[in-house]
Amino acid sequence: MLRRCPVAVTALASFGLFAPYASAQDGAPQALSLDDLDALESQDSTSLLDLTAAQVVELIPLLLFFTLAFVSFFKKNTYLKYATLVYAVVYMGLMKANLVSLVHVFRILDGSFPILKYSMPWYLLMAVAIISTFLWGRFYCGRICAFGALTQLMDRVLPKRLRVEIPARYDRKAAALKYVILTGAVGYFLLTNDPYIYKYIEPFWMFTLSGSTVMWIMLAALLLLTVFVRNFYCRYLCSVGALLGLMSFASVFRIKRWSLCNSCKLCERACEWGAIKGPKISVTECVRCDDCEILYNDKERCAHWLLATRAERRIKPIPAVPPSTPIC
Ligand code: SF4
Ligand code: SF4
Ligand code: SF4
Repeated sequence: MLRRCPVAVTALASFGLFAPYASAQDGAPQALSLDDLDALESQDSTSLLDLTAAQVVELIPLLLFFTLAFVSFFKKNTYLKYATLVYAVVYMGLMKANLVSLVHVFRILDGSFPILKYSMPWYLLMAVAIISTFLWGRFYCGRICAFGALTQLMDRVLPKRLRVEIPARYDRKAAALKYVILTGAVGYFLLTNDPYIYKYIEPFWMFTLSGSTVMWIMLAALLLLTVFVRNFYCRYLCSVGALLGLMSFASVFRIKRWSLCNSCKLCERACEWGAIKGPKISVTECVRCDDCEILYNDKERCAHWLLATRAERRIKPIPAVPPSTPIC
């Protein structure tokens, strides 16, 4: 099974978390020969303790990153959120190229999971991505994914006047495209057992700096589009985001809304993911970025709180006038 599956063979090639990118040369992932594979499998005799010690170097910064991501999420702290996004781009992206990819989806479909003792960071990333999605929705997209973090940081620093808002009816149709791409990619893999389709539909290889000229040109075009349309790839094209969006239907803890959200458009305008339409938040599009939740709790800006405060002032009894102090 392991020998026949190119996903498993390629993963074993580097013991990396995101093996196909880690082993790519000029954008072309390289598989091991069967002799190489036999040699790698023979290393199974190494003790679990030794292997765990060897992976601690990988696990510590990863655990620190997840801690920062969760603290920023629960505290709803904007500074910590941007610190998390920078960490995601630098560490998860440029240093490790650790992103959940279609390759991970193919692995799960194929049942060819990496060997635990060699791949603890892989399991940790997958556990965080899957469990957090079932709890809060696309938390992975909003905090962990290096490419999503990059586009969020772009949105933060680029001038707002460059933005083009896609009309809602086109936005919804375009958002459906990522589900078509996901279905096509999974169907292609099931028919051909060829996992390398991911290269043509994901830009995550950019963090390895190892694409071909054509791939770099396509990436430049994608990033240029992102300058004008916020999170273009994530909103319309990402098959991983589509899958996490579908899983989010089962999420437990969702963002609350006030009845006034029906008419107040503050959060809708603030959402850079196009996930808010009137009073509703689309769980498939929301990435739990905090922007609307911060507004929801803001007693100085949220229409619900402003009206509640005004109503409270109206029914409060007029305070008794303090006795005047004698003037000498
Ligand atoms: S939509 Fe895709 S690229 Fe964007 S943050 Fe999610 S997984 Fe990453
Ligand atoms: S600012 Fe308050 S009332 Fe307005 S949409 Fe956001 S949560 Fe709703
Ligand atoms: S602003 Fe709110 S609805 Fe939009 S992505 Fe962020 S958390 Fe989700």
